[in-house]
Amino acid sequence: MSDFRSDTVTQPSEAMRKLMAQAEVGDDVYGDDPTVNRLQDYAAERMGTEAALYCSSGTQANLLAIMAHCQRGDEYICGQQAHNYKYEGGGAAVLGSVQPQPIENSSDGSLDLAKVAAAIKADDFHFAQTRLLSLENTIGGKVLPQAYLASLRPFVEQHKLSLHLDGARLFNAVVKSGEDERQVIAPFDSFTICLSKGLGAPVGSLLLGSEELIARATRIRKMLGGGMRQAGIIAAAGLYALENNVARLADDHANALLLAEQLASIEELDCDPSAVQTNIVYAQCRKGQSAALAGALAEQGILMSAGSPMRFVTHLNVNEQDVQQLVAAIKQFYRGR
Ligand SMILES: *Cc1c(COP(=O)(O)O)cnc(C)c1O
Repeated sequence: MSDFRSDTVTQPSEAMRKLMAQAEVGDDVYGDDPTVNRLQDYAAERMGTEAALYCSSGTQANLLAIMAHCQRGDEYICGQQAHNYKYEGGGAAVLGSVQPQPIENSSDGSLDLAKVAAAIKADDFHFAQTRLLSLENTIGGKVLPQAYLASLRPFVEQHKLSLHLDGARLFNAVVKSGEDERQVIAPFDSFTICLSKGLGAPVGSLLLGSEELIARATRIRKMLGGGMRQAGIIAAAGLYALENNVARLADDHANALLLAEQLASIEELDCDPSAVQTNIVYAQCRKGQSAALAGALAEQGILMSAGSPMRFVTHLNVNEQDVQQLVAAIKQFYRGR
């Protein structure tokens, strides 16, 4: 069985489960859970931020950030492809009364700052008030260029915006770029990290930022039903993930590149290995048979996301041999046609 649908499918390892079983716990709503506190303190210290907050999901962490930066009737600017615009149920608008202003993403995943500037609303009572710029790194598996990141701080200061990063796969960006992790997050007022993707924890995300922002986010988290009690059981897995599973993301990137190179050699598929930077591979079925392909692979215990394009994601539960088996199964599918 191998699962290329997402890096969210990872299973907790034996070592991780052992730490979970042994975790010291308390009531985190009282701030009493020593393992949650350890995770938050470790993350904040490692990343060089004032504070961190353990959240149930990346969706929750993004929502808390948007609601902590913005008031009702404010606006955040984000990418048309942003997870916190497209894939979070419109939560910022529904629950925060914060209006998104999406901008087309450039091919490298960034938002052209001239377009962002043009979208910032003037101070006029007809308009929502633009408060926040939200970016994503990695986005579609791509790493935002360091030169672009360096240009952000003067821009948001000039326009008096706050700056948030959806860093669900931040460490994939860090490992790929080879930059210091603190450099990568330096421009941002807040950022998230998913512990439950390539890092391999079963659940949880972190929101990081200033003491003041995290205090506001903690209040909102409670309001949204996100106050958890003996959460140290799951926080222990997050701590293990951060301490042990960052550097190995390079293996996932190597497997993704290998997969892309192999897919590019299959005549019926369109895949550009040079577009693969981290652990996500996109490929197009030239004859639009992706659902049939996914069905045939599933019968052999190989799972993938059909679509146009199809998406394959590598992670700590698939290895080079699984990649080779996937490629062989795809070739066999086309031979049978
Ligand atoms: C997965 C993901 C999230 C949040 O996901 P959850 O499933 O809510 O933890 C946020 N942003 C990006 C870019 C993601 O890939």
